[in-house]
Amino acid sequence: MDTYNHILLAVDFSGATETLLQRTVALRQFCGADLSLVHVIEPMVVDPSYDVFPAIPLGLEQEAAGKAQRELIRLGDRLAVPADHCHVMLGSTKSEILRCAKDCMADLIIVGSHGRHGVALLLGSTANAVLHGAPCDVLAVRIK
Ligand code: AMP
Repeated sequence: MDTYNHILLAVDFSGATETLLQRTVALRQFCGADLSLVHVIEPMVVDPSYDVFPAIPLGLEQEAAGKAQRELIRLGDRLAVPADHCHVMLGSTKSEILRCAKDCMADLIIVGSHGRHGVALLLGSTANAVLHGAPCDVLAVRIK
């Protein structure tokens, strides 16, 4: 049976992360795959017609990206994932997860069935979007 060569784990740092990590470690042991981690920061949008808000402080996203990179590398250390396999992207969560999967030639993407959004849905919005756009297998780990 073919196994996976490169797994991409999408991490949102929610309470579901530990469950995702455990499942990923087990699967990785089974197939001996490389592992990459990705976290996406969505740019903050301010409605320009609502001028009570000040402009977005420049560099806010960069600051968030730096913090996320440190967190991701810390997670990577626990999983023996090198820092150059820990990717923090800026943009739309779905598109950036898919872009990252393509760039690292992942043949499996692991996401939680639910994270911060849409607990009421059968499948959360990110899992659903990734499933529909992925060029490879997707494992949606059930988060209760
Ligand atoms: P949600 O769409 O919030 O229900 O999230 C479902 C799953 O999508 C999470 O468990 C993560 O695996 C992934 N995910 C959600 N947001 C992000 C993010 N900003 N960066 C990386 N992965 C994410």
